[in-house]
Amino acid sequence: MDFIDLKAQQQRIRPSLDKRIARVLDHGRYILGPEIDELEDKLAQYAGCAHCVTCASGTDALLMGLMALGAGPGDAVFVPSFTFVATAEVVVLAGAVPVFVDSAPDTFNISAEALRAAITEILSHKTDLRPAGIIAVDLFGQSADYDELSRIAQEHGLWLMEDAAQSFGANYQGKRTCSFGQAAATSFFPAKPLGCYGDGGAVFVNDRDLADKLRSIRVHGQGTDKYDNVRIGINGRMDTLQAAVLLSKLEIFDEELELRNLVARRYQNGLQEKFVTPFVAANRTSVWAQYSLLTANRETCLRTLKDHGIPAAIYYPIPIHRQAAYRHFHHGPSLPVCEDLAERIFSIPMHPYLSTADQQIIIDVLNSSV
Ligand SMILES: *Cc1c(COP(=O)(O)O)cnc(C)c1O
Repeated sequence: MDFIDLKAQQQRIRPSLDKRIARVLDHGRYILGPEIDELEDKLAQYAGCAHCVTCASGTDALLMGLMALGAGPGDAVFVPSFTFVATAEVVVLAGAVPVFVDSAPDTFNISAEALRAAITEILSHKTDLRPAGIIAVDLFGQSADYDELSRIAQEHGLWLMEDAAQSFGANYQGKRTCSFGQAAATSFFPAKPLGCYGDGGAVFVNDRDLADKLRSIRVHGQGTDKYDNVRIGINGRMDTLQAAVLLSKLEIFDEELELRNLVARRYQNGLQEKFVTPFVAANRTSVWAQYSLLTANRETCLRTLKDHGIPAAIYYPIPIHRQAAYRHFHHGPSLPVCEDLAERIFSIPMHPYLSTADQQIIIDVLNSSV
């Protein structure tokens, strides 16, 4: 049994993949080839956002977003602590300071209430730090509460960036993720809901100037050409081959999202009595990047799953504000919700091709373990 089965998917799209990859090998434009433009158009249209700029990873997407928004020294950037480390890492790389915020106990996304308190606290400190922006994460595939977050951002004159690395394809109030805030970043790491065969990512913006800046940052801050450098940038390009892979996967993506939802419903029905199953808020959908459960008996569950050859994982065992590299950055005395989540959470196999039979085994094993 696989935690994420990429082989079944590959079998489905193999003819289309072979054709698209052969086309790249024939034209030989491995960097910024025609597949990159085609993919950017399709992704922008899919997300309902004016501009998509593909790049080398989700981490680069976040970093390029911060660079384009002008984040830098003296800026306090509010981030959830219960997320993948890249969300906070890029803030430090940009020269700004991450301020860790607790999570909402139901969706596990950044808590609006805790965010307001954190902003007030930074403002009341007589330091050089000024609140500059918010990075909200759409954890496990469900979007954060963008109405509320936009309101808070506007009240305080902050920019808002969406970390949609886990949520490409999800809906919030009828709009797709990657369309919220001043910029949105997603990842095409192989295990994400829409993944390529290596690293890849994309930034989404509605503002034309920001899109131009992002394209410049992606190639070493280029101006009229790459030997004219008008700003500090990075080498952040996506490989043409990865765009070819994504174009093939995009063809079946909507169908895969339906299958993921079917799997999630079966888990919900089979596990809700003995476990806290995921809560999806009204007017939102999840793309189920992870299917995560809460239990007081995690050790026992993980041991029983392992004994039955069922893969499982913990996302995330240590919140970022407790990590050695991040402890000294600003956060309140405790972030009780995310600390509690880190103790009780675990994730089980989730992918569109999980069979009913395998799923029943997982459900039975889990229910027998507690
Ligand atoms: C995966 C992920 C990233 C980073 O994406 P990469 O493509 O691996 O660089 C950033 N944020 C979150 C929430 C993620 O899950």
